[in-house]
Amino acid sequence: MASSLGARASLCVPAAGDASSRKSVGSKAHNLRFHDQRSVSLSLLGRQTTKPGSRPQQKVLCLSVQQASQSKVAVNPLELEDAKEPPINLYKPKGPYTATIVSVERIVGPKAPGETCHIVIDHGGNVPYWEGQSYGVIPPGENPKKPGMPNNVRLYSIASTRYGDSFDGRTASLCVRRAVYYDPETGKEDPSKKGVCSNFLCDSKPGDKIQLAGPSGKVMLLPEEDPKATHIMIATGTGVAPYRGYLRRMFMEAVPTFKFSGLAWLFLGVANSDSLLYDDEFSSYLRDYPDHFRYDRALSREQKNRNGGKMYVQDKIEEYSDEIFKLLDGGAHIYFCGLKGMMPGIQDTLKRVAEERGEAWDAKLLQLKKNKQWHVEVY
Ligand code: FAD
Repeated sequence: MASSLGARASLCVPAAGDASSRKSVGSKAHNLRFHDQRSVSLSLLGRQTTKPGSRPQQKVLCLSVQQASQSKVAVNPLELEDAKEPPINLYKPKGPYTATIVSVERIVGPKAPGETCHIVIDHGGNVPYWEGQSYGVIPPGENPKKPGMPNNVRLYSIASTRYGDSFDGRTASLCVRRAVYYDPETGKEDPSKKGVCSNFLCDSKPGDKIQLAGPSGKVMLLPEEDPKATHIMIATGTGVAPYRGYLRRMFMEAVPTFKFSGLAWLFLGVANSDSLLYDDEFSSYLRDYPDHFRYDRALSREQKNRNGGKMYVQDKIEEYSDEIFKLLDGGAHIYFCGLKGMMPGIQDTLKRVAEERGEAWDAKLLQLKKNKQWHVEVY
């Protein structure tokens, strides 16, 4: 699934965070349509996703990588479109919602450095959210800094639309990288210092309980007033999570209140092709919506930039800087999500490009922020 361009779809089955539990449906997956996929029924929760009066939908859950087709997937309940404001902090860390893990799927290939998992959580429709928001997760156990107290909450960007991977508004997905600690002297992994929450999530099993807070965050909400707008999305690693939600809403789901006809342009930076996240899903949009989707990958350990150095997202931004600047001048939104360390290099590149164009970057940035075109969520 992490292979870069293969037209392959993976169906998520009740998993144990183990690549062997992934099920590939083969290389002819481009022939698959959602209609067909609905016949692949996974009764993970033993319930129908169909609501009375809605279009019939079988018990399909957790199709984490799917082939898009021009015939989009019906979603429900459409009341999730009704609110004028996004839900915020419905559950606080001190009074979390107890949700259930549906599946955990390793979504990187064997040559990826580190592990990233796609985790589907059943919130029963009780913790609704909008695309671009985050959930708080309170890992079990005692806070090492405050004995007797629960662990601190950790935030995770939600990687699904408000309808979830099951299209019924009852689940949410996270894209979690397992945080491990390498001793700087020996270079060896030190398991005593592994990240608490990310390891809890990646090791969890279907049926496990999980304490959720949130949803939170407004900065990465997808502005939908103009369906013809341009959205330039820059991600490193798991920073792609909110964009997966945006793109499913734009290209995969039949949402009567949002018919996207603009341009979505994704820049994704990862180490190598085995580390690509949701690549099959994004590639299918490229195939089905070539006038509305662009997708550029920066593989730092596999590709070289024009100076012979490693290829980072900022090198891709530089490559397309003329177009990007023109789109920004035309009102495009630009989003940055991923590790904090991505921003200085990107800001330097944008500043340099602006200066080469005879523009003052600081003033331009101020204007972009003022116009609400500039969206940053880094961690
Ligand atoms: P912690 O236990 O908090 O440890 C933090 C780090 O310290 C780890 O790398 C750990 O290995 C290291 N460490 C532990 N002990 C020691 C020690 N003694 N000495 C030195 N180092 C040590 N993450 C994602 O994977 N996906 C997302 O979509 C995502 N979205 C986010 C959105 C927001 C808005 C924010 C703020 C953060 C997001 N994060 C995301 C990051 C996430 O919240 C956590 O910070 C991350 O998973 C690490 O948490 P942890 O509990 O696993 O690690």
